[in-house]
Amino acid sequence: MNVLFHVATGLGTVILLTDTHTIKSNAPLKSILPIAALALCIGVIAHGALDYIPHCYPVNTKIDMSLGLLLILGLLALSKSKYKWIMLGGLTGCVLPDIIDLLPTMLNKNLGLNLPIIDKVFPWHWKQYSGSIYSGNCGVSAINHCLVVITVGLFLWFRKRDVKNILGSL
Ligand SMILES: [Zn+2]
Repeated sequence: MNVLFHVATGLGTVILLTDTHTIKSNAPLKSILPIAALALCIGVIAHGALDYIPHCYPVNTKIDMSLGLLLILGLLALSKSKYKWIMLGGLTGCVLPDIIDLLPTMLNKNLGLNLPIIDKVFPWHWKQYSGSIYSGNCGVSAINHCLVVITVGLFLWFRKRDVKNILGSL
């Protein structure tokens, strides 16, 4: 699935895991890091779920990667210092499978590099399990993309106090 949808689910994961009423911004780092590790794991699992379901790629790859990177950097810059670790965990987890399995090929293709290519590690990137649609018949994909956006939007809406507390610079 496009990076932008993965980043959206990463943000949703971070907001769900960060109850700012119980996790104070001045909490010790040792109590924050396990949540960051959990956010990373759930980010990877959420990535898998999105890649398994049928999907096309409505956003051009270069625009998608550029905006995705900007969004990640922006969210990290806006996050309050202690919550940055959880944000870093969730956002890293949601793009990590693509970084490992797909980025070397993309860099080789677009930048003329010669990075070593290994077999894909994550099963949702294997041809027999991936939900990628290349036939151009993208009706079900549009529904799935809408469901992802609506679900993350609902998370953010119902946890807007946490969103405001986490992204303190907004
Ligand atoms: Zn992927």
